[in-house]
Amino acid sequence: MATSMSLPKQMAIGMVLGVIAGVLAPMVGLDTGWFKPFGQIFITLIRMVVVPLVFFTLIAGAASVSDVRTLGRVATKTLLYYIFTTALAVTIGLLLANLIQPGFGLSLSTENLTAKEAKIPTLAKVLMDIIPLNPIDALAQGKMLQIIFFALIFGFGLSMIGEKGETLSKAIDGCAETMIKVTGIVMLYAPIGVFALMTVTVASHGLSVLLPLIKLVGVMYAASLCHVLLVYLPCVRFAGLTPGAFLRGLASPLIIAFSTCSSAAALSSNMLSVQKMGASKTVSSFSIPLGNTINMDGAAIYMGVAAIFAAEIYGIPMPIDKQLTILLLCVLASIGSMGVPGAALVMITMVFTQVGIPLEAVALVAGVDRIMDMARTTINVLGDATGALLVTRLEEGSLKSGEPEQA
Ligand code: ASP
Repeated sequence: MATSMSLPKQMAIGMVLGVIAGVLAPMVGLDTGWFKPFGQIFITLIRMVVVPLVFFTLIAGAASVSDVRTLGRVATKTLLYYIFTTALAVTIGLLLANLIQPGFGLSLSTENLTAKEAKIPTLAKVLMDIIPLNPIDALAQGKMLQIIFFALIFGFGLSMIGEKGETLSKAIDGCAETMIKVTGIVMLYAPIGVFALMTVTVASHGLSVLLPLIKLVGVMYAASLCHVLLVYLPCVRFAGLTPGAFLRGLASPLIIAFSTCSSAAALSSNMLSVQKMGASKTVSSFSIPLGNTINMDGAAIYMGVAAIFAAEIYGIPMPIDKQLTILLLCVLASIGSMGVPGAALVMITMVFTQVGIPLEAVALVAGVDRIMDMARTTINVLGDATGALLVTRLEEGSLKSGEPEQA
């Protein structure tokens, strides 16, 4: 049945109805368990398109760059933007947490609570892990950094062989276009998926879970809002977009991020949306998948806020030098986080261990993790989109809107 309502609108309606159903379900004794598969189907569908979409669009992008130096410049600008904005994100989180003191005066029992510690990988291991031993294995396992690495080299190789590669180039362009279409088809299911996910989340995170930690959640959301207003919107304005056009253009990936708590799930939609808003294909097909893996401003904000919160609960003093250590650790831990639900909750153990916060604190915040994950995943996705638009503006002088068709 043809419908004239736009997809983001349908998704927004799905989200609102999901919240209403989630509030009502426990009241009328409805088991929301059977909504779960509908949400899971959505997450699986959108994750299904990620690897082939990124792989083909990135090869096509790299093959169209005649000069390797161009990509080097794009990569440098992108990485600088990622590190700088992530550091700003932690700083904003730390400042607000120090100001509002979300853990002050709270006494929460940590009896019987335990958490597993995440280890810091060495730099050598991180770098080695970018090179795939077997590219097919990397594709099969969805290892994004390895896929990016191989696709770039493959794309360059393809452009270097000139005429001999023309047929393959065309085929890969065709595959990329097809994957864009496939993503569009998959997204038709989004309103139902979003509805199911929101119903389950709201029904299982009622006020009784939320209330004791409401201040913590409030600080996290406030810091996220400040980050959008102080960092992203100025960047986007510089890129030539109004805040309204920017947020409207990203409605689909933002709703996906908010309802699935997985930035990996929002990747395809994010990439196509920024391209539609004028981000260059070369920049965005490289920077969005890369940012999806290493640029996590939302996770960084969360870790800063949670560290101060936990220190307050345990009465651990946090002088400025310790907070600077937290800043650095949060940037590293956010780079190491993956775009799946609850990833930052695992990575935060690395921060806590280093500054002497008991790991039980992790279990303490776990009850409201999903609610905070919704905000941080949305910010993670927004950060990548802002980066793609900003770097396009820096590279090309302006955005060229209108491509591609589906978002
Ligand atoms: N859920 C987040 C994401 O997918 C990661 C995290 O902060 O836990 O981006």
